[in-house]
Amino acid sequence: MSFKNEYLNNLMQEVERKNPAEAEFHQAVKEVLESMEAVIERNPEIQEKGVLDRIVEPERVIMFRVPWVDDNGKVQVNRGFRVQYNSAIGPYKGGLRFHPSVNLGIIKFLGFEQIFKNSLTGLPMGGGKGGSDFDPKGKSDTEIMNFCHSFMRELYRHIGPNTDVPAGDIGVGAREIGFMFGMYRKIRNEYTGVLTGKGLNYGGSLVRKEATGYGACYFTDEMLKARGESFEGKTVVISGSGNVAIYATEKATELGGKVVALSDSSGYIYDKDGIKLDTVKQLKEVERKRIKEYVKIHPEAEYHEVSDGSIWDIPCHIALPCATQNELFLEDAKTLVANGCIAVAEGANMPSTPEAVDYFIEKGVSFGPGKAANAGGVATSGLEMSQNSLRYSWTFEEVDEKLKQIMKNIFESCHTTAKEYGYENNYVIGANIAGFLKVADAMIAQGV
Ligand code: GLU
Repeated sequence: MSFKNEYLNNLMQEVERKNPAEAEFHQAVKEVLESMEAVIERNPEIQEKGVLDRIVEPERVIMFRVPWVDDNGKVQVNRGFRVQYNSAIGPYKGGLRFHPSVNLGIIKFLGFEQIFKNSLTGLPMGGGKGGSDFDPKGKSDTEIMNFCHSFMRELYRHIGPNTDVPAGDIGVGAREIGFMFGMYRKIRNEYTGVLTGKGLNYGGSLVRKEATGYGACYFTDEMLKARGESFEGKTVVISGSGNVAIYATEKATELGGKVVALSDSSGYIYDKDGIKLDTVKQLKEVERKRIKEYVKIHPEAEYHEVSDGSIWDIPCHIALPCATQNELFLEDAKTLVANGCIAVAEGANMPSTPEAVDYFIEKGVSFGPGKAANAGGVATSGLEMSQNSLRYSWTFEEVDEKLKQIMKNIFESCHTTAKEYGYENNYVIGANIAGFLKVADAMIAQGV
């Protein structure tokens, strides 16, 4: 039995029974339910009104066919998903992921996380997520456009600026959002902020591109301050080399840290003198190449294939997993702690396995869970929605200042909530409870 509380134990069993073979979804639900013991003891109404029974079940799941024609004239068929998880506090909001690993269970785990993350931002956004098993790797611009257009030809009927506002995630950046926005606008004949992460010339927000990475560093900075530390002079290891990792590198460096490693699914680069970010931006954002190309330009750096050890073997004070789910295991956590790591913040969604998380917390490492640490992305999406509604654009400084304040508030609420419930410095429990309470309150107020 994984829970002391019988009600929670039965609920978890029900979730597993009703959603077979969705390991990541079970993992995400279990982590939240584990934080709920003290909550339901203090507030019996939550159990009486079935809030947890309701919150684990998505309000709506949409699955659809995405047919498109490749450059050889061949018809390809992918599967599209949108999980509209919870709209108690605002329209569904969350990214779209295009990656061959995408299936319903992955989208449900991400959508479920998004409920609590969005609530933590303090902005009125419900939780949702979508995507496709389409693999953008190696596809031409025309193929990407054909796919995005086909995806939106079905998705458009399910979304809207007051209904559901998708954005990017892995495999979906400004290019893909642009193609999808173009198709939505044509079909609906209306110009609204139905997607976020748009280009700056057609309704996008300054800082949205940087927001997840910057936000993760602002959150880390707060965790460091709480233990009398800062980024100054610290060695930082960041996994991934996409949008989140790139801007986490930029901000960590700006705050005085030295980022020495980045990775992709094939391997990692180690540059002991500090990663040259201009090179990474050129390779990843412009040329869309693999990270190993970095060592051709900077031969003093090393490249290691995945089979040749883990990025977490590199000694560092701060680790920011910014690649994907379940990429940091118990063994990695042990190595990091043994090498003097004091803070870990998740730029990706659920990159650390439950065993790794428990180990970090047990050893006194400041650990920022994804739903708090990477909430800066969706928070800035919320700011993009506000600007679209106002038909106005704030300056870079204005948006950055709001983002900083939001990340500070998120840290504060994780910190104080954890303390209030008797789990001081456990930001996992703090984030789960603080994110949950606001949604629970709304669900109770609105009735079954
Ligand atoms: N995909 C991002 C996340 O995991 C951003 C979502 C959004 O901006 O809506 O939070």
